[in-house]
Amino acid sequence: MTGGKPGPLLDGGPGPGWWQQGRCWLGCDRRDLPVQWIGPVEVGVTRADMYACVDCLSRLRSLVAEETTGRP
Ligand SMILES: [Zn+2]
Repeated sequence: MTGGKPGPLLDGGPGPGWWQQGRCWLGCDRRDLPVQWIGPVEVGVTRADMYACVDCLSRLRSLVAEETTGRP
């Protein structure tokens, strides 16, 4: 794991709006369900793509809305 390409793959790979069958990374930890790419995550020097299911995405959307509205 040295350097490597930052960010998601482009054509035919994970990126904004990309859905695939897989595991939800956002708490429910279910597997083998449709999940959407939500961005790269970095832990130390390791980078991976994160995915979330519909349920967790709506929860995340509310959080984002809370964080981005009502702010000066
Ligand atoms: Zn989930």
